[in-house]
Amino acid sequence: MHEYDDKTVIPELRSQLGLSLGNGSSMLKKAYFSAPSIDINDYDRIVLCMSGGKDSIACLLNLIDIGVDLSMVELWHHDVDGREGSTLMDWPFMADYNRQLAAAFGLPIYFSWLEGGFEGEMLKEDSYSRPHHVETPDGLITLDRDTRRAKPGTRMKFPQVSANLQTRWCSSALKIDVGRRALNNQSRFDGKKVLFITGERREESSNRAKYNQLEPHACDRRAGRKARHVDSWRPVLHWSEDKVWDALRRHSVIAPVPYRLGWGRSSCMKCIFNDAVIWATLRHHFPGSLDAIAAYEERFETTINRNRISILDVSKQASPLEIGDEEAFIQAMKREYSLPVIQNSSNWILPPGAYAKTGCGPS
Ligand code: SF4
Repeated sequence: MHEYDDKTVIPELRSQLGLSLGNGSSMLKKAYFSAPSIDINDYDRIVLCMSGGKDSIACLLNLIDIGVDLSMVELWHHDVDGREGSTLMDWPFMADYNRQLAAAFGLPIYFSWLEGGFEGEMLKEDSYSRPHHVETPDGLITLDRDTRRAKPGTRMKFPQVSANLQTRWCSSALKIDVGRRALNNQSRFDGKKVLFITGERREESSNRAKYNQLEPHACDRRAGRKARHVDSWRPVLHWSEDKVWDALRRHSVIAPVPYRLGWGRSSCMKCIFNDAVIWATLRHHFPGSLDAIAAYEERFETTINRNRISILDVSKQASPLEIGDEEAFIQAMKREYSLPVIQNSSNWILPPGAYAKTGCGPS
């Protein structure tokens, strides 16, 4: 699943945007395959993309371990469902969890989203994509679409695992593109040296194993009029999953709820890459949670599953996970995150989802 993003989505996005997304081909800037430690004091600002999953949390803990001045750091989180009322895909608590995680470390967090989120984009029918909304230190900005250059489009189906970005669009439309515009449209980054941190790990896929650890970001314009220097750094790229969980344990960060429920990854609750076990778990433990997706599959006459098996039928192909963590289970469907984020390390518990292969695909 990661390989699909790495081999197909990212390269297509690169050509679609006319940007370098990491092969170092543009502007002759150097990329480093291995850069586990860098001179972090070289930067004016550190932007850390915080999904709320273990790997992005590990990135933050690594910054603390290497003694970074946290006043340089801000967290960014992309709301997959937007803020206009859709609850189709993501965990209800995810925004609040990220808010509380940031507060626990005394860090600012800025949310950004595509208006209407996943559902709004999916229902696009002969119309333009909606604006992006980006929280900034100076307030919320709205980034409209340039309708002189963009063309109206139609989705009316779930993103599909396909070689075409028109049909497999969620990560790019809801995350990568939102982050790109958030960087490009804040003058506070002009003339500054920005470090953009994400939490990919080489262990996750054979293609991710080939990633550079430090390279110019797609939004780097160091030689341009804006003199905006943006480097992309993946500090946990070489980490094992052991090392990630150990960082959470050492810093007393409780495993996020999806892992406590048994998910191997923390991404959208109803990720299109969920396997049959997760769909079965959703149907069994969260009755009704698949209804909206099933209704869309009928309306679009297109299933998420490439073998044209409806989501309800996929969910009957496996046995659900047993969920033993009552506290996490109660939290799962609440919008307000009411559990602690940090807990005394002597009580720290490795969650059932640790090392599990079950769960979601690209985030
Ligand atoms: S987590 Fe899954 S559904 Fe959500 S944006 Fe990523 S690939 Fe798409």
